[in-house]
Amino acid sequence: MEKIKCFGFDMDYTLAVYKSPEYESLGFDLTVERLVSIGYPQELLNFVYDPSFPTRGLVFDAMYGNLLKVDAYGNILVCVHGFNFLRGPDIRELYPNKFIQRGDTDRFYILNTLFNLPETYLFACLVDFFSNCSRYTSCDAGFKDGDLFMSYKSMFQDVRDSVDWVHLKGSLKEKTVENLEKYVVKDPKLPLLLSRMNEVAKVFLATNSDYKYTEKIMTYLFDFAHGPKSYFDLILVDARKPVFFGEGTVLRQVDTTTGRLKIGTYTGPLQHGIVYSGGSSDIVCDLLGAKGKDIIYIGDHIFGDILKSKKRQGWRTFLVIPELAQELHVWTDKSCETYTHSCIHRLYHNRFTWFNFQKRHICVVLHIAAAPLFTLCVELSVLATE
Ligand SMILES: [Mg+2]
Repeated sequence: MEKIKCFGFDMDYTLAVYKSPEYESLGFDLTVERLVSIGYPQELLNFVYDPSFPTRGLVFDAMYGNLLKVDAYGNILVCVHGFNFLRGPDIRELYPNKFIQRGDTDRFYILNTLFNLPETYLFACLVDFFSNCSRYTSCDAGFKDGDLFMSYKSMFQDVRDSVDWVHLKGSLKEKTVENLEKYVVKDPKLPLLLSRMNEVAKVFLATNSDYKYTEKIMTYLFDFAHGPKSYFDLILVDARKPVFFGEGTVLRQVDTTTGRLKIGTYTGPLQHGIVYSGGSSDIVCDLLGAKGKDIIYIGDHIFGDILKSKKRQGWRTFLVIPELAQELHVWTDKSCETYTHSCIHRLYHNRFTWFNFQKRHICVVLHIAAAPLFTLCVELSVLATE
């Protein structure tokens, strides 16, 4: 850690921890409203988000409409159709050897971020609703209503489009910033943590969120006289990760009085107080005067934050897995002491280091090469949810 010269942070679900299940419920309700507005049945408005059902990392099979839990190799551990859990022989009928080719991204969609939790539950609700509704007839690849056929694939696409719409054009952000106390965790120690980090290294923020949203969230989290800018050497919004870790986009400067982007590419040196938009990880390295290995980037997205930054730029990475906090409660339960000990022992030998970060987060610094990263994280997520 002493070699680290720069600490980089993602914002959503890293510095800004959304309250569960309130935030997921909001995303769920808005997505359902959107589906109804594009023609889905009114009855969908009766759906209520259940936080105990979805877990991060499930796979949606757009051919058969099933949610799958698979291991790192593609072996199916659990298969659920709506809310109907399939048994071994039924799973084998649909999936020979109880195995899927996870690389078939046209068919299999990995719900790998915490933002995906509402839609994970929504897929189950929709399949359950259409399977049990007398107006519709179930078939292998979807549902029939007279001459109309709705494939699981088209349903999947409608849900994905609705989720994106809610995030980009709908009122999710608006409703979140209207009621920050309801939806975002405010940890009073966060400003202290970042100011201490800033004493020994440079600190930067690189988020995919836009300036207006970022400004509201960060001002809420760092409720100090000078605002969030005094904790960061560089603030970059509209990062477009994972593209950011490759070719990137044009680096622009945000006019912080209007919230608009200034025209033209920013070509000047790093200046305190400037908020940047777009750019790439190479540009960030140049602005900070740092090499990839000098930087540790802290994020919650296994592909967008961790895998790409490590593989393409050689950045050191720090994965935030909030679900592990719950797992630790299980581990620290007296009745599981032996199990706890053996798990920690095993993790230690896998070269994990545990940190208690922001109290609510249990974070893991991954010292391992990129290739086994996904495998280990899938195993960890399985561990965290079982
Ligand atoms: Mg994030």
